Amino acid sequence: ERRKRGIVIKDDWPGYSLDLFTYPEHYHEDIESVYIPHGVIRNRIERLAHYIVDDFGENAIMVLCVLKGGYKFCADLVDFIKVFGRNSSKYLETRVEFIRLKSYLNDQSTEDLHIIGSRDLSFLHGKSVLIVEAIVDTGKTMKALLKHVETFEPKMVKVAGLLVKRVPNMAESLTDYVGFEIPNHFVVGYALDYNEYFRDLNHICVISKTGKMKYKV
Ligand code: 5GP
Repeated sequence: ERRKRGIVIKDDWPGYSLDLFTYPEHYHEDIESVYIPHGVIRNRIERLAHYIVDDFGENAIMVLCVLKGGYKFCADLVDFIKVFGRNSSKYLETRVEFIRLKSYLNDQSTEDLHIIGSRDLSFLHGKSVLIVEAIVDTGKTMKALLKHVETFEPKMVKVAGLLVKRVPNMAESLTDYVGFEIPNHFVVGYALDYNEYFRDLNHICVISKTGKMKYKV
């Protein structure tokens, strides 16, 4: 289904030349191209918000934002959900809670996944939950999180992933609302980081060799 797959970005998409857009000067040598411009990201999120409002109906939405990468996606998504609520006069109740997970070192996924910051999630019991995650790669993170969330016995759980990577045994089936399906590149920007750098970049970009070297830990 088209809706599930999101906008498919082909393997040979080189991105837009950097000089066609504005971006923080200090990253000049650190990114290859503008892979997904900020405006396109926003437009796509507006569409996802529409699907979500349709699916959740009258149910209050318990939004679970996966930090830190998901914070921009979450903020924009919840804003669009509210706008639709206002326009259709069925103002949807939303509550946002944050959860922090870590599984990456440099650009490599590591085996150990930690839930770092998590408050008591027992308020999810019997509620409609929307997990908001910036990027789903192998799906390991999402599987672990879903398992954790299910222990609180919510009424339903949906997953919104702004980006889903096209990798073998794709985790697409985990994700109910997909913004973009992308090739297996390491991307940064729009709150996605590389060792904490690049979160202050609005576009989603592909990091350059120079950038990888410069910010390696
Ligand atoms: P998974 O468990 O699905 O392999 O990885 C998901 C997590 O890895 C995401 O929450 C994100 O933090 C990180 N991640 C995966 N791919 C990328 C990427 O291309 N760029 C960035 N910045 N983080 C990524």
